[in-house]
Amino acid sequence: MNGYNGKIAKIDLSLQTTEDVFIGEKDLKMYLGGKSMAAKIIYDAADEKIEAFSEKNMIVITTSALTGSTAPCSSRFNISTISPLTGLLTSSNCGGNFGLNLKKAGYDGVVITGKSEQKVYIDITDNKIEIKSAEHLWGLLTGEAQEKMGEEKRGKLVIGPAGENKVRYAAVICEERAAGRGGVGAIFGDKNLKGLIASGKVSMEMADKENFKTFNKKWIELLQKHMLTGEQLPKLGTAGLLSLMNYRNLLATRNYSKGSYEDFEKINGETLSEEHLVKNKGCLTCPIRCGRVVMAYGKEVKGPEVETLGLLGSNLCNNNLQSIINLNHLCDEYGIDTISFGSTVGFAMELNEKGIWSNGLNFGEHEQLEELVRLVAMREGLGSELAEGTERLSEKYGGKEFAIHVKGMELAAYEPRAAQGMGLGYATSNRGGCHLNGGYLVILEGLGLNVSGSTTRGKAAFTIFFQDIMEAVSAGGTCLFTTYAMLPQVLIKNPNRLLTRIIYKTLPSFGIFTGFFHNNTWLLGFNLNSVLPHPKAIQLVTGFSMNIGRFVKAGERGYNTERLINLRQGLKGSDDTLPKRLTHELQREDEPESKVKLNEMLGEYYSIRGWSNEGVPSLSRLKRLGIEVKRN
Ligand code: SF4
Repeated sequence: MNGYNGKIAKIDLSLQTTEDVFIGEKDLKMYLGGKSMAAKIIYDAADEKIEAFSEKNMIVITTSALTGSTAPCSSRFNISTISPLTGLLTSSNCGGNFGLNLKKAGYDGVVITGKSEQKVYIDITDNKIEIKSAEHLWGLLTGEAQEKMGEEKRGKLVIGPAGENKVRYAAVICEERAAGRGGVGAIFGDKNLKGLIASGKVSMEMADKENFKTFNKKWIELLQKHMLTGEQLPKLGTAGLLSLMNYRNLLATRNYSKGSYEDFEKINGETLSEEHLVKNKGCLTCPIRCGRVVMAYGKEVKGPEVETLGLLGSNLCNNNLQSIINLNHLCDEYGIDTISFGSTVGFAMELNEKGIWSNGLNFGEHEQLEELVRLVAMREGLGSELAEGTERLSEKYGGKEFAIHVKGMELAAYEPRAAQGMGLGYATSNRGGCHLNGGYLVILEGLGLNVSGSTTRGKAAFTIFFQDIMEAVSAGGTCLFTTYAMLPQVLIKNPNRLLTRIIYKTLPSFGIFTGFFHNNTWLLGFNLNSVLPHPKAIQLVTGFSMNIGRFVKAGERGYNTERLINLRQGLKGSDDTLPKRLTHELQREDEPESKVKLNEMLGEYYSIRGWSNEGVPSLSRLKRLGIEVKRN
């Protein structure tokens, strides 16, 4: 099958059985792969709510059409499961070498159910699956566990002590990359699964290899020539966004009570580059190379992303960059999501400051944080409380109005009171407080382009369009940063030109057209390869007839399937909301617009999506998307 192996490995850890399950071309065509295909598998597999910590919960690891094709940034793979943090679907994307190796081993994905009595790991080599003892790996940090799993070149995926101890935001680590969000690591731990290892020599067939080669070369050139993907990201990493976020009041600070941090220059991308950078680094097949290599504890380690700088820096009023680097490394080693950890600690600090919960944690004091990572991972003392995440802490101690989470998952480092679209994205994101699944509209609202962040006009339509594009890009198997090259450079380079300012001013009015095209994707039956090369690349690899319209529709299909799973898990429309701090407290006293006006956008959002006032997709919309509805 062009672009795919056409089969997934199904592993039942209770019964210790393995089986090959074949995937039909129709499903691949409709869902492409990645998180969308995982959603399809999870939706079809159950008729009722699944508890996160139960044998019925499944871990679904998926690759995509472009995995193994050498397309730029195509080593990404996805892990989906029911999250122990939210009780809803979570999908976590990772850039390490596991996905590529899994595909070479002969599988497009792995579905793991049940629970092993013994500590185990799974070995997948050249179409052969074995469940092996992990007694010798249990308790190890992620770096050492990967070393002990065997040959360096094989794809490895492991949890650390945090996953073993079911920390609700435990990550899964591959090389130094994390599938961080939503607590996927805790589900591995619950199943007594330390990790997986994969490798093989299975080669992938392509529909049009020669033309793909030429096309791919041009795509790489496009990324290398664009100022964001060719200059800024390689030079400064995502950390390069931090100063701009601060300047535009978008930087989560002091448990999201502010959007800017007076010491931002001590922790920004420029300082990281000048004072700490050893070299930059990329995931496999990536021409952008946004990864940072820095020093911690006397060795070269992965440097922090902008999210980590925000959540472990400004959000905790921690201006010590070496401390953030150390914390980032420790979180990777213990297998903890830096975003949820930083946000939960920030909330605990505010509870302490307000005298609600005396816990000894104070804004601006970073000295005890490194030990705190270990305490959380081991669930010892205070760490055991923090391991439960923000929402559960707020249920126990109070402070719900400033407990910063959506549907139970902590938000990324973008403070949305200066970016209405990002606020709407957080509120409606399928996996909770996620910037990427939420559509990342902040890229239009100050981080790439400079459309007003305070207007709600057009934001519902743009948010939906971006959510579905992000979904499709992820399903197709490439890194979401490849979409940065969609932004017109002429606007970014000339921010003060009259024409640029007119475009920014009028762009929100085009929301109405965006919504129209979103709901009439047949009008987008063409490709714009210099803006969005993904559909054409997928066509050349798989042979599927693909264009922008079909690509967006595939994204919408994935997004709606995820929504259906969440509804089955008990999600209500009233859960599409934000913490009160973000909707009722002004970010800046002198700026009456500086709160998220969610009510002005949500109705329009539902309407364009074809969802009811309760946030339930209509049958006609599902039919149009070709989603078979399960009755339950
Ligand atoms: S852009 Fe960064 S995160 Fe994306 S594939 Fe490249 S190195 Fe990995």
